[in-house]
Amino acid sequence: MPKKYILALDQGTTSSRSVIVDEKGEIIAIEQQEFRQIFPKSGWVEHDAFEILESQLSTLKKVIKKANIKVNEIVGLGITNQRETTVIWNKNTGKPIYNAIVWQDKRTADICENLKEKGLENHIKKTTGLVVDAYFSGTKIHWILENVEGVKTAAEKGNLLFGTIDSWILWNLTDKKIHATDYSNASRTMLFDIKNLCWDGKILEALNIPKSLLPEVKPSSYHFGDFTLEGHKIPIAGIAGDQQAALFGQTCFNKGEAKNTYGTGCFLLMNTGTEPQFSKNGLLTTIAWGINNKVYYALEGSVFVAGAAIQWLRDGLEIIKSAEESEFFAEKVSEENPVIVVPAFAGLGAPYWDMYARGAIFGLTRDTGKNHLIKATLQSLAYQTKDLLIAIQNDAETPLKSLKVDGGACANNLLMQFQADILDTIVERPKITETTVMGAAYLAGICVGLWKQKDIETDKKIDKKFTPNISSEKRERLYKRWLKAVERSKNWIE
Ligand code: ADP
Repeated sequence: MPKKYILALDQGTTSSRSVIVDEKGEIIAIEQQEFRQIFPKSGWVEHDAFEILESQLSTLKKVIKKANIKVNEIVGLGITNQRETTVIWNKNTGKPIYNAIVWQDKRTADICENLKEKGLENHIKKTTGLVVDAYFSGTKIHWILENVEGVKTAAEKGNLLFGTIDSWILWNLTDKKIHATDYSNASRTMLFDIKNLCWDGKILEALNIPKSLLPEVKPSSYHFGDFTLEGHKIPIAGIAGDQQAALFGQTCFNKGEAKNTYGTGCFLLMNTGTEPQFSKNGLLTTIAWGINNKVYYALEGSVFVAGAAIQWLRDGLEIIKSAEESEFFAEKVSEENPVIVVPAFAGLGAPYWDMYARGAIFGLTRDTGKNHLIKATLQSLAYQTKDLLIAIQNDAETPLKSLKVDGGACANNLLMQFQADILDTIVERPKITETTVMGAAYLAGICVGLWKQKDIETDKKIDKKFTPNISSEKRERLYKRWLKAVERSKNWIE
């Protein structure tokens, strides 16, 4: 029997990665390459779209060599990508007309204000599931069309194409033939009607975006086209934005299942089934994926400062030497920690939305030491996650079944145990924490018939389950103290 492999690409914000996954769903090789971050002005963040492409192609070739497999053994290719980042290129020359404007870029805040003044906020929320924000692609496209010379005429002549990073890679891999994206990426543009699954004419008109620029939108597990390598055709069979791919990679296939990624910030997504749920608590409604003629939705909330608070302990306060060390010192506090750290370094996001809040430390006494501070900072990640989960559960009207975790800080056992304790929910850490890229691999593997979705679910291996282990009285007391601290850190700067 010939061997079969899936090639999965993870085009992230700071690096491009490629992995080879074997039939058993094990990663057998990984290659990674960083690329430049370009900061032309304060608040502006750009990438060179060609550098992204080259770094991706270079890791792709290297990983096939490293895995020591033949190109004709690769039966499918999946792509996951940094979301919202915007590229516009000329379809005749293949050249981007401007650098990619990255999701973090805030230059279009004024354009967002303008949309709100035009009274479009409600329409955008109802149609796209998103809040009006510079984060999403729509206003970035508008900015490029308004600010790059000669672009308007080219756009009107139909010579320009827009894409999020997945589309840019897909178009290049298919020899400039296929201009498409998947539902999950489309749902982050602030231009896509997530219920009727089409581009929204009213928003396009308000932002002056010609329809000819936009990619076709397809399911996430779908044969988009072929990538020809050494004469072999590899079907490109799965595409999803990074957070949605992680939700799929964590096998949160059913309504009520959620994952939380503990990286620099936290990204919490809950599968809400085949109907979109619109948030009353400042969360985003987004398409999780399209598969087998069905579209699944998710509620999404994010915490701005999570792992970044651990970096602050290391680089700002210099009280730990590495992020891992935080667990060692926090464990030394055996009694109940009276200290609360609210890491509102950049204001508070969902569900509070207070940009005037600032970080604060409460509960200091004469015997407070660095260990209390370290433990309180770790605990703040769990408290913030609980805030989001309460909001999500209120919106979704679905109880949480279990929380699946990934990202750098999920390696911290003390944090994960405290997360289970404070949520009163089982926290599951998978063996493979490469959930994002596995999501792309699964979507592609299912499409080409290598795996069945139900088999992936039962095959998934858990590294550790954290079970709640405190009394409900204690849980309530601790969480009340956190909420009191949050209240007091609000509205700090003028
Ligand atoms: P990103 O993808 O956002 O760069 P990662 O998933 O690589 O983030 O996770 C890195 C973050 O996790 C850093 O902010 C770091 O401080 C934090 N981190 C890593 N390991 C630990 C640990 N053992 N305990 C607590 N925090 C950790």
